[in-house]
Amino acid sequence: MSRSAHPAGPRHADVLSEGHYAAPPADLNSLDPKVWAQTVTRDADGAVTVGGVSVARLAEEFGTPAYVLDEADFRARARAWRTAFGQDADVFYAGKAFLSRAVVRWLAEEGLNLDVCSGTELATALSAGMPADRIAFHGNNKSAAEIERAVGAGVGRIVLDSFQEIARVAHIAQSLGRRQRVQIRVTVGVEAHTHEFIATAHEDQKFGIPLAGGQAAEAVRRALKLDGLELIGIHSHIGSQIFDMSGFEVAAHRVVGLLREIRDEHGVELPEIDLGGGLGIAYTSDDDPREPHEIAKALTEIVTRECEAARLRTPRISVEPGRAIVGPTAFTLYEVGTIKPLEGLRTYVSVDGGMSDNIRTALYDAEYSVALVSRTSDAEPLLVRVVGKHCESGDIVVKDAFLPADLAPGDLIAVPATGAYCRSMASNYNHALRPPVVAVGDGAARVIVRRETEDDLLRLDVG
Ligand SMILES: *Cc1c(COP(=O)(O)O)cnc(C)c1O
Repeated sequence: MSRSAHPAGPRHADVLSEGHYAAPPADLNSLDPKVWAQTVTRDADGAVTVGGVSVARLAEEFGTPAYVLDEADFRARARAWRTAFGQDADVFYAGKAFLSRAVVRWLAEEGLNLDVCSGTELATALSAGMPADRIAFHGNNKSAAEIERAVGAGVGRIVLDSFQEIARVAHIAQSLGRRQRVQIRVTVGVEAHTHEFIATAHEDQKFGIPLAGGQAAEAVRRALKLDGLELIGIHSHIGSQIFDMSGFEVAAHRVVGLLREIRDEHGVELPEIDLGGGLGIAYTSDDDPREPHEIAKALTEIVTRECEAARLRTPRISVEPGRAIVGPTAFTLYEVGTIKPLEGLRTYVSVDGGMSDNIRTALYDAEYSVALVSRTSDAEPLLVRVVGKHCESGDIVVKDAFLPADLAPGDLIAVPATGAYCRSMASNYNHALRPPVVAVGDGAARVIVRRETEDDLLRLDVG
């Protein structure tokens, strides 16, 4: 089962010998702008402020744990993506990374489009006023009700993920008297990792229709025949937390190969290509993500080059960054509860949240950094493991990190880069009440998603 089934984790000395952790940062009080939201600074007293609001005030007013989101940073990143891709491309924010009505409004205002993966994400987007034609609907098993809702609302595109779905969406669109714009999601045989990709001839995952064996070409054949569908393009999403563009290069090559086959067989040049999301962010100072303008330039060049070689008109490109927009804009604020030094092993620092507000460490072995934010300290660096309060020994927030040795219960610590896939994957394990999301900017803070209450939970429990 979990990590708890394994023998005790690395000994203190082993961890220290791993190089990565061998040297504590030169200054524990400094905050690396790579991993912290744009407006995060320390004030004269040493306390951290974000959007002009001190973390002490945030903790007092909203409690801990809390996700604190820098609105100016979110808007700046959204705008940077929009600007980088320009008017001849579309940027769809992947709502599953973190979705709330405030975020939807910011995106609408900044000129981005939105990806949703469920009827409820769609409802959230529509209720916040995102125009339906700027919404794309994804998923490998959309229900008939969800498809009806999406078609009925007039979403800009539905991304088809299986043969059954091609027929299903066509049928529903026709019965509603619509012609639904669709893309077909293909798997190109590229599995992207952080610093490598493994090209596999064989596909083994639930998403998409494989190019291999002519399956994607058959899907296109069927979609082109159905009156309820307007096939506008091909979609590919190769993975997540990617730093290396070579996976996109292979994907673009293969997708353009399919576009060429389609032109040759049907005399149709599909007007759009979607390269998905998955662009990496810095969780620790060791990560070096690319800027949106570099990514836009690289992707545009790749697609243009491939299309020229295939003598195709360059299609309109779209991308779907989720993490790369929202991830860096938020941190999780915790209060330290207990500190347990285990002789010869390590020191455990327990916070008032854990795997219920950040499952990524347990789920993906994700790395995070952490800092003392309620004050500065001149104490020696101490290698610690930050853990939550849940009944599971795999309940780890930050595996290995340096915090000042004088850390004490009541101190506030914060884990940066938790904007993506933390609140959206949060759970009620141990009947934890999911933390609020507090947006800060211009010296003010407001709750955009409130903390759950005991009443919220008890209301679901109908006895
Ligand atoms: C998850 C997902 C994204 C967003 O991924 P990020 O890593 O958050 O950028 C985009 N497109 C599709 C189809 C996805 O499944």
